[in-house]
Amino acid sequence: MREDFAAGATLLTQHSDKRTLLIVDDQPINIQLLSRAFSADYHLIMAASGQQALHICHTHPPDLILLDIEMPEMNGFEVCRHLKAHADTRNIPVIFVTAHIDEQTETRGLQAGAVDFITRPINFNIVRARVNTHLTLKIQSDFLRQLAWRDGLTGAYNRRYFDEHLALEWHKACQQHIPLSLVILDVDVFKNYNDRYGHQQGDECLRKVAAAINPVLKRPGDMLARYGGEEFVCLLPNTVLSGALSVAESIRNTILALQIEHHGSPVTSFVTVSAGVCCKEAASAGNCAELFRQADEQLYLAKQHGRNQCFATPLTPAATPPKSRGV
Ligand code: GH3
Ligand code: MG
Ligand code: MG
Repeated sequence: MREDFAAGATLLTQHSDKRTLLIVDDQPINIQLLSRAFSADYHLIMAASGQQALHICHTHPPDLILLDIEMPEMNGFEVCRHLKAHADTRNIPVIFVTAHIDEQTETRGLQAGAVDFITRPINFNIVRARVNTHLTLKIQSDFLRQLAWRDGLTGAYNRRYFDEHLALEWHKACQQHIPLSLVILDVDVFKNYNDRYGHQQGDECLRKVAAAINPVLKRPGDMLARYGGEEFVCLLPNTVLSGALSVAESIRNTILALQIEHHGSPVTSFVTVSAGVCCKEAASAGNCAELFRQADEQLYLAKQHGRNQCFATPLTPAATPPKSRGV
């Protein structure tokens, strides 16, 4: 993880890649003017409407948005409110750039969630300085979020992040009628490992295990977290039970293939993991605590059956909803 947070103000200039600005305006001349101010220092994306801007933000989120207010169909206030209402776009700073100079419009813009409000005609030096300031603040807050959400030993997400993410993904899966799978992994007889090789080598082993699991998770929405001690969890959105079980098996094989010596293990002479897998199928009932409980139950069975294996179960299907009665 980066250690230069204290020098956050200089992060912007140290960053090797250019930061991305999204310029949103229905008037090509306004886009051209802003492009001239920023094209040398930033990677620029343009959008000519609110809808186009939202699409870009969800597919290729920029680092900052310069947003016009008056646009046909969807105005800048609506775009800003939409961005702030969605978890994956709410941390993108929005600066309104507009010909409106009245306090009421500025207040509305800031209340919609914008970080700043710039009026035309534009002074290039001022707009560049403000963009620079807000980008620096964004980089710092991104960094703090990383610190708050990552496990210090392995770099995987931490339990706090996982708990929040699980609730969000569960909600999404219910709304969109898509499956959600959970894999709980536990390093086998790890107490013996520490006893035999020492706590520091134990720590090193956990780092290796986390680093090996990460590349097995291939989809962008997949998430690895260290749940605690020698337990890891993988949350796999839009993944059916058979897919999740195959991911769990790949992880188990990958860890075994690391051949980390573990002569204190009754399973093999290498470090192994056991896994419990559960899936919320599209039509199943329950809640995210139930998903976790059932995956944990499967992990327990995997341990009971000799470790170094994966057990899985789907959640029970939902009961047929009661028929509604006419009023
Ligand atoms: P099982 O196969 O049933 O999971 O047995 P186990 O020994 O792995 O399980 P147990 O829960 O008895 O012990 C887990 C051990 O994991 C205890 C502790 O020494 C070790 N452990 C937990 N967190 C850390 C850590 O951060 N670093 C190190 N080195 N060891 C840890
Ligand atoms: Mg354990
Ligand atoms: Mg264990």
